[in-house]
Amino acid sequence: MGTDTEQTVLIIGAGHGGAGLAALLRQSGFTGSITMVGDEQHLPYHRPPLSKKFVGDSVQQLLRPESFYTDNRIDLHTEARAVQIRPDAKRVVLADGRELGYDTLVLATGSHPRTLPGTPEGTTSVVTLRTLDDAETLNRSLSRGGELVIIGGGYVGMEVAAVARGRDVAVTVIEREDRILARVASSELSTMLADYHRERGTRILTGRSVSELRTDGAEVTGVQLDDGTVIDCGTVLIGIGAAPDEALPRTAGLEYDDGVITDEQGRTSDPDIFAIGDVARRPVAGHHGLRRLESIPAATEHAKHAVAAIMGQEAEEHEVPWFWSDQFDLKLKIAGLTTPDVTVVTRETPGKNAVSFFHLEPEGHVVAVEAINAPADFNAAKKLIRSRVPVDPQALADPAVKMRDLIARSDQG
Ligand code: NAP
Repeated sequence: MGTDTEQTVLIIGAGHGGAGLAALLRQSGFTGSITMVGDEQHLPYHRPPLSKKFVGDSVQQLLRPESFYTDNRIDLHTEARAVQIRPDAKRVVLADGRELGYDTLVLATGSHPRTLPGTPEGTTSVVTLRTLDDAETLNRSLSRGGELVIIGGGYVGMEVAAVARGRDVAVTVIEREDRILARVASSELSTMLADYHRERGTRILTGRSVSELRTDGAEVTGVQLDDGTVIDCGTVLIGIGAAPDEALPRTAGLEYDDGVITDEQGRTSDPDIFAIGDVARRPVAGHHGLRRLESIPAATEHAKHAVAAIMGQEAEEHEVPWFWSDQFDLKLKIAGLTTPDVTVVTRETPGKNAVSFFHLEPEGHVVAVEAINAPADFNAAKKLIRSRVPVDPQALADPAVKMRDLIARSDQG
């Protein structure tokens, strides 16, 4: 497409992926029309503070000021929901009946929190957490007092637990697996984090599930577990995972299987439609098959690749997938994708409350790292993951051996 002024790029979704793509298109010299549609009432904002800092006034942090969109001729429609794609006419239909045309369409619709079956409707104290409005509802509910019960020990749940404990709210986490973060973290990291949370007063119940939420009018009053135990509470947070919106891509007949299937640049089965961020399932460098990655760095990278494809430019090299999480004073940075048959090597930095868990495949190369308060380990691990050269596990576990020496050794190896 290049810099053709007659062309229109329509972006559905105004989160990190969609808004990032709009900005990058202009930076790359795109002179055509850019239209972006978002279903929330807010301008695009940072999502991480929602679970990491949801108390107080600091939650709303716009990605860019309002003037950015006018200055860059990005036609932003808020509170607008796309309900149908008509690839034959190259048009998208909005819920209010309006239609928008495109030459290139980008789906950046993200994912939505899963809901717990049987959740009573209309309560103001049973919340999922994805949007700014959700964070405000959660904050308001906690301000009314009572215990917080978190269903699901994933990243949403554990980040919120840490903030709530910092505010002296009693917190219970209910996880149906035998450990928190079971699907996304090593058992070493799960154990370390569970201990850290418990030492700071969070009650964590694993291998348990919820049979009923008890309510009185619009307020939740308790959670009944599968063994009959009832936990009295004032707020319930449901953090049991997220799923992409399937209905919209289906209207365009796009290839879909737990996400819109794309190539490595984000192009879907329709060459004029791209999908980026949580909604896309695509190849990941160094891994077999297709993956759906739910993280801001992935959405940002997908946006870069799609822009390169739209502009007919050379794509940047693929980054090792990564994301971060903050819990209490722990800064977690996680890179790579883990597999079931890895050996985990622990490297502790004495006196610094820092530890890293390196995941090694049987051939001895690093495929993932979970670094806690250890940015140097994280950066070095990304290089090791990319190089795929075997490392000596004993040297890796020894904090006296510098990471740069390990990289140099693996470079020579
Ligand atoms: P998640 O990371 O998928 O974790 C959900 C957890 O809840 C899983 O351990 C799951 O276990 C468990 N669970 C599912 N159903 C349950 C039930 N009925 N009762 C008790 N536990 C249940 O999802 P999330 O924490 O809700 O996060 C949602 C999305 O936001 C994800 O994409 C996440 O990556 C993203 N997020 C990212 C960050 C970050 O990058 N720092 C922070 C917050 C949120 P099973 O494995 O058995 O289903």
